[in-house]
Amino acid sequence: MVSCSLERLEDKIRTFSKFGDTGRGGITRFSLSPEALAARAEFKKRMEAIGAKVVTDDMANMYATLPGSENLSAILSGSHLDSVKQGGNYDGVLGVLTAMEAAETIVRENIPHRHPITVIVWTNEEGARFEPAMMSSGVICGKFDKETMLQSVAKDIPDYTFGQALRESGYAGDEKNRLSPDKHMALLELHVEQGPVLEAEGYDIGVVEGVCGMINYEFTFLGQADHAGTTPMKYRKDALYAAAKTIQYLHDELDELDGKLVYTTGKISCHPNIHTIIPDEVKFTLDARHQNPAVLRQVLEIIRKIPPEVEKCKVSYAEAWSRKTVAYAPELVDIVEKSAQECGYTNMRMYSGPGHDAQYVADVIPTTMIFVPSVEGHSHCELEYTPVSACLKGANVLLRTLLLIDKM
Ligand SMILES: [Zn+2]
Repeated sequence: MVSCSLERLEDKIRTFSKFGDTGRGGITRFSLSPEALAARAEFKKRMEAIGAKVVTDDMANMYATLPGSENLSAILSGSHLDSVKQGGNYDGVLGVLTAMEAAETIVRENIPHRHPITVIVWTNEEGARFEPAMMSSGVICGKFDKETMLQSVAKDIPDYTFGQALRESGYAGDEKNRLSPDKHMALLELHVEQGPVLEAEGYDIGVVEGVCGMINYEFTFLGQADHAGTTPMKYRKDALYAAAKTIQYLHDELDELDGKLVYTTGKISCHPNIHTIIPDEVKFTLDARHQNPAVLRQVLEIIRKIPPEVEKCKVSYAEAWSRKTVAYAPELVDIVEKSAQECGYTNMRMYSGPGHDAQYVADVIPTTMIFVPSVEGHSHCELEYTPVSACLKGANVLLRTLLLIDKM
């Protein structure tokens, strides 16, 4: 069985880790920044060197295509090259590098393929500098309005828009190059798991069945601001105490639901946030994720049981946003599983908690993902790490899956 090259993959990982190197084992590589443009240039150079034709669409998504032996639609694989601030060397970029390595193996080993093979690089997946995340896949898959996205303002430079960055990058291409069902038959995205499950359970490969649905609620507690030194406890309306009791209630109840449910209160604000004043307004968020919509409905029932008044404070809540569970193409999920088995790698089926570009593409063409383990589950930080031997297993499953799809 043909295998990708460990040495070549290691070289790719090492080379790309220099673009935006923080010097502490990670990278800061915001989309369309000079560092990201250097990574794009390296991608283009390497793909052209193996005979690929590289084009971009109007959102600067890059498509590097090796022609097939027949006039058929292309099989796509790739991910993103941008990172969060002080992120790691694997999130996104590994999906591009393994797709490049699979393509290079096909070329060097002269493996025949009927369909064109295209390695794709998405623009602005992280949304770290220009919100929202998954911006460009969202635009071409009809989730976001392009004109609105072009107006997105950089978090670090006043009035500097995504549209300006796009024009100045030199990578804004033709709308006709966009991913579309008439030109592309399937998409595969390899990604690091970004969680601890595969490593902890001892699996080489995650066979991704879809992306978890999620709900995000914002709660508000209204109390009364009074002097911390003069107001006896029984007269107080302390909004922070009411919020804390509610967070405890939510944990107690949500822990009784399905063990795969994950939920987080990650954002909290307290007004006036002064140590001598009883808080009069407190807000917090609840993010809950599960693959089964019925479990998320149970979460909602628990939220609805919160009384309108807690500890004499008024309680209100509203949905900030939500996302439906995305199911990947079952026939492709089966092929990934088969490929992992044929390679002799241990594997488990799982759902993705984080969002990925692939989830938008899933509405347009058959799509699926491959996960490789994240050491200790760290991601979106400089500790993010996957040994190259584990990355190679992912690349081999990707290569095998591409070649099996080519025979379909
Ligand atoms: Zn990513």
